[in-house]
Amino acid sequence: MTTVRNDWQREEVTAIYNLPLLDLVYKAATIHREFQKADEVKVNTLISVKTGACPEDCAYCAQSSRYNTGIKPSILERDEILRLANEAKKNGASRVCLSASWKHVKDDSTLEKIISTGREIKEMGLNICCTLGSVNKDQVERLREAGFTAFNHNLDTSEEHYHNIITTRTYQDRLDTLNTLIDGGMSYCSGGILGIGESDEDRISMLHTLATMRKHPFSLPLNTLLPIKGTPLENMKNVEVFEMVRMIATARILMPETIICLAAGRTAMTEEGQAMCFMAGSNSIFLGEKLLTAPNPEVNEDMNLLKKLGLKSV
Ligand code: SF4
Repeated sequence: MTTVRNDWQREEVTAIYNLPLLDLVYKAATIHREFQKADEVKVNTLISVKTGACPEDCAYCAQSSRYNTGIKPSILERDEILRLANEAKKNGASRVCLSASWKHVKDDSTLEKIISTGREIKEMGLNICCTLGSVNKDQVERLREAGFTAFNHNLDTSEEHYHNIITTRTYQDRLDTLNTLIDGGMSYCSGGILGIGESDEDRISMLHTLATMRKHPFSLPLNTLLPIKGTPLENMKNVEVFEMVRMIATARILMPETIICLAAGRTAMTEEGQAMCFMAGSNSIFLGEKLLTAPNPEVNEDMNLLKKLGLKSV
């Protein structure tokens, strides 16, 4: 019987990460079957309530106002958000994540709009979560009371590599926000991106940080970079699918109860590659034409793949 641990030593994480790939996948798939329903994949949709004009300088992101990426800043109104949520529900999504490209959540009418629209989405029978930048205790309380069940706040990479990717905030700022969420009784969702110039050590370090938080993430999204023209990382090379499989499998072994989401970058993967990610312990995907600003496989392709693999969308 596997126990859920928060006291992983860095050397243990390194040893797991470096297992021969098929042994690693076998071990992860076994733990996956112990803790998760292995025939289910959670299907989410991301709705970008505020896109672009972000003051942060994340080197991979099309939405930063510092890079010329051709993204037109936009804000969605309530009706449009509800229309998209309804469409997502019809397409099989069970969870909607509302995102806004902010540094901090401000206590203004936009937050009020997100909260009230979130309530309406919940009334449609969907789970609701959000990603809004950093957040304080009172705002966590307000979001929780409105029925938001999780808040996304990615670590992106290791503490050591962080300053090469983002200079407008620190790793400690991110950890502080995660702790605010834990203290406020809000589940958090936090993961990272592969292909942003990080080493294996950086990947191990990020997983070690998450696996030793006093509470593991409710969900851990793993993304691969889709290089975006105009950003500092526009010329980065694609990540091999086996690197993603290794990362998913290691995360599954370290955090058996966490949902592991195969997030941005899925478009660049073959069906066989995605199947191997599910085998390694990933049990969540994003639906829809767009994942923030990166293209996402068409909804039908997603559903057909799940069907072929005998997986249920939940
Ligand atoms: S990743 Fe988020 S915080 Fe960073 S620039 Fe993009 S929208 Fe802003």
